[in-house]
Amino acid sequence: MKSGKCVKCGSANVRRGPWPKLWKTSTGVIPLGSAFGASALVQWYVCVACGYAEQYVVRETDRAKIRTKWKLATERED
Ligand SMILES: [Zn+2]
Repeated sequence: MKSGKCVKCGSANVRRGPWPKLWKTSTGVIPLGSAFGASALVQWYVCVACGYAEQYVVRETDRAKIRTKWKLATERED
């Protein structure tokens, strides 16, 4: 999607949302829970041909929090 081509339908009509700002969270955040009281700011990519959407956690500091707090996708749920 970041390359501008939809990974689902192949359209080149992929739109990028605005770079997220702390004071303007309307473009989306991932809540990281009150235990470490933070949200991860995300930037959206949307294919306006088929509607597929992806979002990316843009700040390395947010990704570091997720690395320490969230399990690997391959780990079992308890
Ligand atoms: Zn598409």
